Amino acid sequence: MQLRNDATQAEYDEFKKKYETTCTFCEMPNDNPQQIVKELAEFYLVQNMFPYAVWDSQAVASHLMVVPKRHVISLQELTVSESSELIHTLGVYEDQGYSVYARAPSNVIKSVSHQHTHLIQTKGAVIQ
Ligand SMILES: [Zn+2]
Repeated sequence: MQLRNDATQAEYDEFKKKYETTCTFCEMPNDNPQQIVKELAEFYLVQNMFPYAVWDSQAVASHLMVVPKRHVISLQELTVSESSELIHTLGVYEDQGYSVYARAPSNVIKSVSHQHTHLIQTKGAVIQ
């Protein structure tokens, strides 16, 4: 099942070609600063430029991500301070109706190895 609509997926596939040898999230402050919604102490809250169309069988209303400033692959690499800021931030957005999802490093769907946690707000009506 495709997560994005066809047009967004095509744009994403083209975008990814630019980052075959570098990390899109490490380059984001220079290459795509418009993506950053909010700068936290150790993370960026960012707009997903290629948002999912459907999540949990519902249309997606808003798709944000929380991205550590450091290039880490897994949650286990986060410091205590980073972990604390991440959980606090996820809680703030969960309270606003966002669901939380982070793929394991071994998940074959994961396209950017730099750890990131999706915050996905759905429109609430289940698509049949
Ligand atoms: Zn990175």
